[in-house]
Amino acid sequence: MAEDYSQRDFFTNNAIMPGDLQSYRSAQPIGGVVTTNLDKVLNLARANSIWPALFGLACCAIEMMATSAPRFDIARFGSEVFRASPRQADLMIVAGRVSAKMAPAVRQIWEQMPEPKWVIAMGACASCGGVFNNYAIVQGVDMIIPVDVYVAGCPPTPEALIEGVRILQDRITAGEPQPQDPKEYMPEVVRDPNFGRHA
Ligand code: SF4
Repeated sequence: MAEDYSQRDFFTNNAIMPGDLQSYRSAQPIGGVVTTNLDKVLNLARANSIWPALFGLACCAIEMMATSAPRFDIARFGSEVFRASPRQADLMIVAGRVSAKMAPAVRQIWEQMPEPKWVIAMGACASCGGVFNNYAIVQGVDMIIPVDVYVAGCPPTPEALIEGVRILQDRITAGEPQPQDPKEYMPEVVRDPNFGRHA
């Protein structure tokens, strides 16, 4: 006679006695239960659908363009939708040196982006001024906007930028706190219309 496998424990394959059946069934969960909270789900969604602003300042921007081309294909990480309007973007990749004249425009574009938003400083110039240690170049874009990830190199390779995006994704998924807005600790620098210009 064929055995009745429907009366066996799924994990141990031991037979379940008729008397045990009722208590066995009542001990099992009725269905799968997913335990998480809304923040975790939102952070996961945000991390995997980052929309960068279409924004390049100098030579590093060429590498940023290559990052979205087929060979490197940033679409593999959900970040290929470069937006021409800051109001549709949540990531600013500062790709290149920031001149003092451009600084107020960079700040304005960042302010026009909706929350939550993130910034990657791509390359030596955006991160710290690079080789341009002079009055015309902002010595690190973190003097005017908060930077989440710094990508080293002159220029950084597309792989390095993708690594920066991956690090940012990990931070967003983990819900890590964002850096402080420089306006809060250097208001005189950020608000100065002549920032970086010498008299
Ligand atoms: S880091 Fe190098 S490649 Fe990038 S903007 Fe500066 S000089 Fe150009």
